Amino acid sequence: MNRIDLNGVVAECRGADSFLVTTHSSPDGDAVGSILAMRHFLNALGKEDVTCACHDPAPRIYDWLPGAAEIVNADNLRAAYDLVVVLDVAQLDRVDSVASGLSPEQRILVLDHHREEDPSGTVNFIDHTYASASEIVAELFDASGLQITREAAECVYVGLATDTGSFKYGNTDARAHRCAARLLETGIDVSDISSRVFDVMSRAKSDLLRRVLERLQVSDCARYAWSHVTAQDMIEADATSEDVDGLVDPVRNLEGVEVGMVFRELERNKMKVSMRSRGGMNAADVLRPLGGGGHAGAAGATLHLPLEEGRARVLQAVEEALGAIHS
Ligand code: 5GP
Ligand code: MN
Repeated sequence: MNRIDLNGVVAECRGADSFLVTTHSSPDGDAVGSILAMRHFLNALGKEDVTCACHDPAPRIYDWLPGAAEIVNADNLRAAYDLVVVLDVAQLDRVDSVASGLSPEQRILVLDHHREEDPSGTVNFIDHTYASASEIVAELFDASGLQITREAAECVYVGLATDTGSFKYGNTDARAHRCAARLLETGIDVSDISSRVFDVMSRAKSDLLRRVLERLQVSDCARYAWSHVTAQDMIEADATSEDVDGLVDPVRNLEGVEVGMVFRELERNKMKVSMRSRGGMNAADVLRPLGGGGHAGAAGATLHLPLEEGRARVLQAVEEALGAIHS
């Protein structure tokens, strides 16, 4: 693996003229925030030929972010760019269709904050001690001697605030707060951003939330809880993926529960688990053998199994993992 430091990242960016900036499919706040912040950083470096792309559209709650309207899908891409920058994910397969048209010779720069042993980049900046990928972009401004712009600051703030659960999760450290302080100094309106991102629930999401709470189940040991969303629920609620985001939080928040899960049926033989852990169980370690990953406190996996079978596999893995940790 070819690892580079922040100065190396800046040198890569200075040395290229055309850029494709992308992230994982089903983008979250850090994915959208980090690619848009990267666009603003590249513009500040004097680079104008910058395309932001994602396999899926950005969730509507991020529509107002500067540059969000110009995020394209895989249909609108060229065959080659001087540099492809991949943020918030280190494996090209999770970039989905945006990566599929790239030539094997394409130079790729990965900027990620997940624990990843074998990243896909030609060059990689990977540091799991960062709370968000967006913070890495904020530091690129410093490393280049540039002032972070207010537009970039809004994007970074969204990435940082969403990946730390509004500065509540275990990944919230002094650096995250220092970064936020610097973003606020650019004049961003935190109250307005928070109400757009956190204090709004679509009708579809409230419908799904009702279903999730009705079906909530707690294990015999009372240490884990789960619920599910079927493909039919999605149709009936007129919901999209973004409406499922965060439904796992109330499951995890149940008193005494250490691990919360929401199982979502994607297709007949494809399902996804969203897992949150607040005890000693490392959620990413539990899901990695099933092909998933993420962080200790928040992880996910997509399994090519019917909902019930995938759920049984995951629940068994959690039962075993918790059995090894005393409550
Ligand atoms: P969420 O439950 O919000 O979809 O995902 C939580 C975290 O788990 C994400 O930040 C991401 O790091 C990870 N994650 C979610 N889905 C997958 C997946 O299918 N594969 C892998 N490797 N990680 C995932
Ligand atoms: Mn992230």
